[in-house]
Order: sequence, then C-alpha cells, then structure tokens
Amino acid sequence: MAKVELKGIGKVYDGNVRAVDNANIVVEDKEFLVLVGPSGCGKSTTLRMIAGLEDISEGELLIDGKVVNNVPPKDRDIAMVFQNYALYPHMTVYDNMAFGLKIRKFSKEEIVKRVNEAAKILDIEELLDRKPKALSGGQRQRVAVGRAIVRQPKVFLFDEPLSNLDAKLRVQMRAEISSLHNRLKATMIYVTHDQVEAMTMADKIVVLKDGVIQQIGSPLDLYNKPANKFVAGFIGSPPMNFMQVTATEENGKVFIDEGTFKMEVPGGEYLKSYVGKNLIFGIRPEDISYVPEAIPHKTMNAHVTVVEPLGAEIHVYLYTGKHQFIARVAPDINIAVDQKLNFTVDFSKAVFFDGETELVINK
Ligand code: ADP
Repeated sequence: MAKVELKGIGKVYDGNVRAVDNANIVVEDKEFLVLVGPSGCGKSTTLRMIAGLEDISEGELLIDGKVVNNVPPKDRDIAMVFQNYALYPHMTVYDNMAFGLKIRKFSKEEIVKRVNEAAKILDIEELLDRKPKALSGGQRQRVAVGRAIVRQPKVFLFDEPLSNLDAKLRVQMRAEISSLHNRLKATMIYVTHDQVEAMTMADKIVVLKDGVIQQIGSPLDLYNKPANKFVAGFIGSPPMNFMQVTATEENGKVFIDEGTFKMEVPGGEYLKSYVGKNLIFGIRPEDISYVPEAIPHKTMNAHVTVVEPLGAEIHVYLYTGKHQFIARVAPDINIAVDQKLNFTVDFSKAVFFDGETELVINK
C-alpha cells in the first residue's frame, strides 16, 4: 500500500524564486501518475520534494496518511531513477544494484536474491559483471531502474528517465516501464516534458505551467475535455488549432466569424452569452475534413502551404488568410501546395475558450 498526497505544497527557492504553488495531488496506491509540462514549470522540484531531496516550503506531504515533510529521504521508502542514471562508474552492474541494499545492511543472501530477480525482470542477467561504460544507453537505463527495483520501495519516482535515449529506444523503454508497472503493481510518479510519454504511460496526468497545476485527469479526459487553452495546446500532436473568432447570433442560430469565413455552430446555444465578445475556437487536426464543394456557412476555404504525407495519413498545413491551421486527412486524397480547398469541421468536437481568461467554455 502506498498512497501519496500533496496538500497545498509550495516551494520557494532562496532568492524568492517560486517554483511550485499550492499543489494538491492525490496519487492512489498502484497508480502511475505523470507530471508533465514545459521546461521550468516545477516538475523536478515537485518530485524532489516527494523524494525528500528538497525542503518543502509550504503544505503537507503524506505517504499512506502520515505527514513526512520532516522524514529524511532514506526513511521515506522511496526509490528514484534519475535522468543521467547516476550509476557508479567504478562498480559493476551487480554492485551498482546491490549498493543500496548493502548500506541498508541487508543479508548477503537477500541481496543476491533481489539483484538476480531484478536482473531477470529487466533482462540484464548477462550484464551483471560489466561496468557502466561497457553498456549502451538503454542498458544503463535498465540498471538504473534495477537499482530502484531491488529496494522494493513503496513508491518509485522517475525524473525524465528516457530523455537521454534515441527516439526508437525511447519508445521501447516507454513500453518496458509501463509493463514493469503492471508487473510490480507499485505506485509510480513519473516526470517528463514529453506529452506523448504522458499520454501513453499515465493512469493520471498532472499538467503544470509556471509552478501551477492546470489540470489533473486521465489522458483521454485531458485530450477531450481540456480545462484551458494551455492544456488543449500542450496535449496532442499535431497540436489543436486555435483561431480568434467572434460569435454572432441570427434567427436563434450561433455563428462564428473568423474574418475570412463564417460558419454555423450546430448546438452552439451555449455560446450565446459570448455574442460580440472575443472567443478562441479550438479544433483538433483530425476533426477537420476536406470537402470538394463549398457549402454556405458550413465550410471554410483555405490555402495549402505545406503537405506532409506520412503514409497512413497526410498532415496538411493551411492558411485561411488570417490563421494557420493543420488538418489530418486520409492518405488517398490528392492535395498539392498552393491549392485552395474547402473544409468542414466536426463541431461536436470543437472547444471554445474565453478570449480573455483562456478558460474552456462548458457546453
Ligand atoms: P522542470 O523540472 O519543470 O524543468 P524545475 O522544477 O527544475 O522545473 O524548476 C522550476 C523553477 O525553479 C525554474 O524557474 C527553475 O529555474 C527554478 N529552480 C530550480 N532549482 C532551483 C534552485 N536550486 N534554486 C533556485 N531556483 C531553482
């Protein structure tokens, strides 16, 4: 059992740098929680406070219901895997993995048993006599994870563990860590700036910006119901398109006017209080469809600037005359640069944000 709770946690570094502000997070037992956000948003600081490597300026940190703010790192029953692996270069893989157990005075038999078990789980049994410099990046990564596994901690913490690996290995290790989570059934907290890692690995994602939590939810919640424009733009690749529009109302129907096109928003009654005000229209690239003919108030016309055929789909970069946007279209549609084409949007998937606060407007 290991539940981790952050209650009003804040961090102010010397010199008055506020890195984290009023973080409230519950990590349930056996949950895989990912902290994600751009560089400098306070992810590592949050993780380091949980590990006990950084003092907590404000709030309470609880593990299994007990406040641990003042419990030293070694007594928190937490193991951390660092970005640079932090392996001892002069020790073999075996000794690197055994080290934490030796200093905790485990018996020789127990150490042998645990290291061998971890080596088996990670498929590095044949590497136990090697030194880190004789390992590839991916193998070092596994040893770093192995060193955490042997401790059988209550909570695993990962600080950008895959960012030093090449793209292909990153994808492979991503799957390995997910499968490790399934097998160990441990509570894991994972920090990354990569939204794809967050989406593919997490049970629950916390999106941070400038030290402030923007939203907490499952990957699909964040994708389908972003709380604000920042989350909508951060989650998803290619990202959600945004256009500044104004809402108008005619005969009880709501339209959005972008300047170069005007479209009816079916079911857009919830936007009526925004008529005449600034609105941000958000639509994901897959919710825009090519249509051969223009239809009044149902389509927009745009100029093709770039075509990226990816095999399974085409990413088309477009320009309305006011806004750039991207559409994902089927691979068999013939599209060339400089064409002017018509597109419809699936308004049931569109998201609108308040032009001032950038908060989502709920339906
Ligand atoms: P992230 O992990 O999301 O990149 P960090 O938690 O490392 O972000 O940093 C959050 C903020 O705190 C940044 O503005 C960073 O410059 C600042 N910061 C981090 N460590 C220190 C420190 N030891 N002293 C002062 N400021 C720091």
